[in-house]
Amino acid sequence: MTAATTALNLTGKALTPGAQRSWWLREALAAEKDGLACPPLTGDIKADVVIVGGGFTGLWTAYHLTQTKPDLKVVVLEQDICGGGPSGRNGGFASGWWDELREIGAPEELRALTREEVEARCASPAFRSGAFMKDGASVQPAFLARGLRRVVMERGVTIHEGTPVTSLNAGPPAVAITPNGTVRATRAVLAVNAWGVGWPQLRRRLVAWSSYIVLTAPAPEKVAEIGWTGGELITDFRTSVRYFRTTRDGRIAFGGGGGRASSRIDDSFTHDMRAVEEAAEGFRRLFPSFSEVPLEDAWGGPIDVSSTHLPTFGTLEPGNLFYALGYTGNGVAPTHLAGKVIADLVTGSDTDSTRLPMVNRKARLFPPEPLRSIGAAVVRRAIIAKDTAEETGRRPNAVMSAIARMPRRMGYLLGP
Ligand SMILES: Cc1cc2nc3c(=O)[nH]c(=O)nc-3n(C[C@H](O)[C@H](O)[C@H](O)COP(=O)(O)OP(=O)(O)OC[C@H]3O[C@@H](n4cnc5c(N)ncnc54)[C@H](O)[C@@H]3O)c2cc1C
Repeated sequence: MTAATTALNLTGKALTPGAQRSWWLREALAAEKDGLACPPLTGDIKADVVIVGGGFTGLWTAYHLTQTKPDLKVVVLEQDICGGGPSGRNGGFASGWWDELREIGAPEELRALTREEVEARCASPAFRSGAFMKDGASVQPAFLARGLRRVVMERGVTIHEGTPVTSLNAGPPAVAITPNGTVRATRAVLAVNAWGVGWPQLRRRLVAWSSYIVLTAPAPEKVAEIGWTGGELITDFRTSVRYFRTTRDGRIAFGGGGGRASSRIDDSFTHDMRAVEEAAEGFRRLFPSFSEVPLEDAWGGPIDVSSTHLPTFGTLEPGNLFYALGYTGNGVAPTHLAGKVIADLVTGSDTDSTRLPMVNRKARLFPPEPLRSIGAAVVRRAIIAKDTAEETGRRPNAVMSAIARMPRRMGYLLGP
């Protein structure tokens, strides 16, 4: 055990992030007593729609497709298990994004809170004042992902887990190629989130950043002591945002470490001890009264950062390929909308959903590799350094501040 992990009171499995599935997913899988198996694809099959990716986007798309067209043959191909990616690992914040959209003018959606009002909801010596978003919900994300998997299977959707799509020929018909079989389908949906960095059609629409969560041991009495009994989801105002919430058994899940960017989704998104320590440091700073409560779990995952901070949904050439990505770490609620939009695009329906401005929007592209990953990594570290200096009352380094501001000056909404 290193000095840092001892000081942070990190115990057990947390010392090896990525060594096991997220705490959420372990809980959800343990509850699946009569779980339906989704064996890997073997052989060549046909479908009306093939969906690559079994996270919220892919599963909500399957859900909405079967809602409107129950006779469609839909196949989902997931390289891991459904919910094995960020959908089963995230903070579970389902919010309406009023903080991102305040210029549209709905002041009642985001109300200022005084220091005393913040303290009444959750007391921390680090909190000064705040803002309250009245609409929002917390979910246990892996229960949602695995529940969606069950519901779409009950509707006749075929799911193959453990089935990576190694390439997709758009056709038409589209042919998804996997190690032991193919799916030939009229239409295909790319619901691959940050793995989009590996797809030529998508890679310049996003950069991938990591985010990590640490989880305390159950401490319901300590949570009650700080008055955090209303289930509020809390974030700070750092650009490299920290987010924290309670669980049903009185733990705190605290997210925010990370800063790696890469042109492929590798171990740095799941096995990064430095990112775990950063998240743990944030937690210890904000919640000093929990110093004796161990952090006993930690996990991370990739975030698909778009140039606008908002997701985009749309159609790719030659017209039978569809995608949704760019949630920028806020996909829990919007993936439901994404599924509706993609289902309508797939079925050729002209609806309110398909007329949303974020559908087929021409967003600013990121630079090509290797500039994109190097730039993203440097900017992310600069943002974290600037945020940390400000938080600890130090003057941010001028060079770091300039680097942190650079993306916004270039028209990318990533920095301060
Ligand atoms: C640590 C963390 C905390 C977060 N916290 C929040 C939060 O509190 N609130 C919020 O709104 N959002 C949060 N997010 C973001 C949120 O999890 C995502 O926006 C959301 O899950 C996106 O869903 P998705 O289905 O598009 O992506 P994913 O869940 O990533 O699903 C994509 C799936 O595609 C699969 N896949 C990729 N490539 C292939 C291939 N070639 N073949 C087959 N399968 C493939 C992957 O294995 C994965 O399962 C967080 C993310 C992380 C990492």
